Amino acid sequence: MAGIYLHIPFCRQKCHYCNFFSVASKRNRSDLVAAIIREMELRRDYLNQQQINTIYFGGGTPSLLTEDELKKIQEALEKFFVLAPDPEITFEANPDDLNPALLKMLKSTFVNRLSMGVQSFYDEDLSYLNRVHNGEQALRAIRQARDAGFDMLTIDLIYGIPGMTDERWLKNLQTFFQTGIQHLSAYALTVEPRTALAHLIRKGRMEAVDEVQSSRHFEILLSETEKQGFVHYEISNFARPGHYSRHNSLYWLGGHYLGLGPSAHSYNGVSRQWNVSNLTGYIRDAATAASVEETETLTIEQRYNEYVMTSLRTSWGCDATHISHVFGEAFSDYLFQSAGKHLDAQLMRREGTRLFLTNRGKLFADGIAASMFLDEAL
Ligand code: SF4
Repeated sequence: MAGIYLHIPFCRQKCHYCNFFSVASKRNRSDLVAAIIREMELRRDYLNQQQINTIYFGGGTPSLLTEDELKKIQEALEKFFVLAPDPEITFEANPDDLNPALLKMLKSTFVNRLSMGVQSFYDEDLSYLNRVHNGEQALRAIRQARDAGFDMLTIDLIYGIPGMTDERWLKNLQTFFQTGIQHLSAYALTVEPRTALAHLIRKGRMEAVDEVQSSRHFEILLSETEKQGFVHYEISNFARPGHYSRHNSLYWLGGHYLGLGPSAHSYNGVSRQWNVSNLTGYIRDAATAASVEETETLTIEQRYNEYVMTSLRTSWGCDATHISHVFGEAFSDYLFQSAGKHLDAQLMRREGTRLFLTNRGKLFADGIAASMFLDEAL
């Protein structure tokens, strides 16, 4: 199973919390499309001719691409790669871009799944985040996407926003359930260094994030999604059975992927690569494949740590049989040894050879995984 990620780094304006590589301008768009197509051609063998099951247009804001640009990218993908007969093709879009004409255009391409950056249905939250759209536009975009015939939809919501009461978070979730959408990605607001939000909080011009409020919102999220029949299949992802994101599942289950565009990451089971996080540098270098800024060949302990971290975040859990098979028995022994204190504290539970985080453990997912990492090979 293999996938392709395309990074389209343009945005209308920069959201205060954002630390993705993106630029608040649409200049160089056609040069970027040409560079991405050149990169496809140069790196067409990276995935060893594996069939491509999923393609994900992320950003930035892919919905700023024109019809001509998107169709050129589609043609190139079909030319340079072998696509599965029923690939999942996800396209990220912001509610302020979606309208019947754009949706009709998307429907005429191979795109079959839309991921909408709603974040909140309330204008107060959207204004704190410096999003371009408002709550009414988010609801309208969802309705229009449905009318245009998109039945595979997902939205992003953010909780733990200062000023967002528990009641307002609950109402956000209820509004989401009323839309009938089958997949939700929900993230805690985190203040990354070097973002506008970090600066504004430091200057006292924005209220700081309260971790306790954020944990409460996470608990509300777990109980409300469960009541509605959603499966919590990854720490930030919820879906009705049969509606999991195939692309993200590929990342979590160790599948291989090629990342195209500035700042995109790739992984082929042996090495991980990063493209340069600079638009003009990427466009200049794509002609020579020099846009790959760094290649890291993973050591066995890095691959083990990565597996522990990603698998513990999923509903499939961390499987000692898999570890023993791929890394050796010493690693599966170490897994149970390092999990001991978390099992005793009921932050984890064991079922056969698999370990899972409990709901309370999910609040500390990163810290628990880090405490189980290996510094050197066994
Ligand atoms: S739209 Fe997305 S990528 Fe662009 S600035 Fe906002 S959060 Fe970042």
